[in-house]
Amino acid sequence: MNNTKYVFVTGGVTSSLGKGIIAASLAKLLQVRGYSVTIQKLDPYINIDPGTLNPYEHGECYVTNDGAETDLDLGHYERFLNIPTSQANNVTTGRIYQSVIDKERRGDFLGKTVQVIPHITNEIKERIQLLGKTGKFDIVITEIGGTVGDIESLPYIEAVRQLEWELGKENAIVIHLTLIPYLAAAGELKTKPTQHSVKMLMQSGVNPDILVCRTEHHLSESIKRKLALFCNVKQEDVIESIDADTIYDVPVFMQNEGLDKVVLKKLNLNADTEPDLSKWNNFLSKHKNPKHAVEIGLIGKYVELKDAYKSISESFIHAGSSQEIKVNIHWIHSEELTPTNAAEKLKNLNGVIVAPGFGERGIEGKISAVQYVRENKIPFLGICLGMQMAVIEFARNVIGLKDANSTEMNPATEFSVISLMEAQKNISNMGGTMRLGAWDCKLSKNSKVYNAYQTEMISERHRHRYEFNNKYLDQITNAGMKISGINPKTSLVEIIEIPDHPWFVGVQYHPEYKSTVLNPHPLFVAFVKACLENS
Ligand code: GLN
Repeated sequence: MNNTKYVFVTGGVTSSLGKGIIAASLAKLLQVRGYSVTIQKLDPYINIDPGTLNPYEHGECYVTNDGAETDLDLGHYERFLNIPTSQANNVTTGRIYQSVIDKERRGDFLGKTVQVIPHITNEIKERIQLLGKTGKFDIVITEIGGTVGDIESLPYIEAVRQLEWELGKENAIVIHLTLIPYLAAAGELKTKPTQHSVKMLMQSGVNPDILVCRTEHHLSESIKRKLALFCNVKQEDVIESIDADTIYDVPVFMQNEGLDKVVLKKLNLNADTEPDLSKWNNFLSKHKNPKHAVEIGLIGKYVELKDAYKSISESFIHAGSSQEIKVNIHWIHSEELTPTNAAEKLKNLNGVIVAPGFGERGIEGKISAVQYVRENKIPFLGICLGMQMAVIEFARNVIGLKDANSTEMNPATEFSVISLMEAQKNISNMGGTMRLGAWDCKLSKNSKVYNAYQTEMISERHRHRYEFNNKYLDQITNAGMKISGINPKTSLVEIIEIPDHPWFVGVQYHPEYKSTVLNPHPLFVAFVKACLENS
């Protein structure tokens, strides 16, 4: 397959319009029609990847199988499409420049002056076509981060303009996602901001082929006509994207609006078959008509920004829907929890999840939460730092290793039950010291996790520096904590459980990165079921 088609998604008027969801929804519709599709995100910031970004800045950092630390939109792509992404699916300006500068140092440019045009734009075009050139995809959808008009977006828009010219209109099209604000005082939808943002695109030589219009109210035919006339598109190419109750409604809305049809028509591809969204709709109807509800506390230090835990909250939607359970998440700040108030704050919950995280802030609150749920037999799932906190709590309060800790929090601790592996100790560069991406794990047959996964070998994604310290393995297991998952190559502990508890599981990896609409994650499913039993 050589003739890969390209769809670019740009954004206008404001940020946060949901380009990622529109891209994922379109991809889903094309996928269920039988096309093989992938989605790529280009981020115009200078960080090499979002791995070093504070979650308050940019939400969760999503990790792919190949260990790339990426934008959270890639999580949406995987959850919608049910196929893995990779490093090639997320490129930042930092990475583009790094690659061009590396080439310059190697002398690849043969003495030429290295410039934004053509060198940076060529690098962008290459990155865009990298996925297409694998021959695996009929269609590559590329989301351009940021908003048209931003200074840092300019080289990307120029790259899109050149690619459209090089590949031809039937092989590359542009969807512009824009906002149609509603002025309550005037009782009117306003098209002017969209006209301006399209004009801005046109000044860069790019004429959008399709407008997708975010709106709180339906667009009348006359508004669509006006938008079409002033933005130089056909009326059928003006697609309404009305606010949805859930992001999972958007593919259905886009199907009703015919977005996939106009895209296929423009790309000269067959649009005769109807997309079969039956599995998707089955998920949606269970999600919207739950028979039960559970209350789950999520203990984290970034709870003010829910995007910091995006994959976890989406995993609960997938798992909950599969069991017809509505999962109500109670966001609890770890800094507000103490040994004295933990009972008060947690007693009405059916289950507790202690979230991933880095650094010392809030960890004593997480440890208080673990102690309370362990002693009161409340279902518990600890993810990454959450698992590490469960080990520390057990060492301190069950074994009596006073002040046991992770060397991340207290390098001088006497009982370093969580610590760095020898091989990691001399590395200081913040990007590149972590155990990242997919690692194998072997499960013990007689365990909660085996019951959940129903298989002995699993592969899950990691993102952490510190590990369970095997020096304490015997002491910890003799006291009643079970090691139910181990990395077969390195013997690193990946999963801990407490058998003498209804459901107490801590995992060193991030199961939330692998949950999708069509494949709810078995651990989240088992945890949600345990919470229901405890309701
Ligand atoms: N801070 C811990 C570590 O680096 C846990 C990381 C995480 O929760 N993702 O090991």
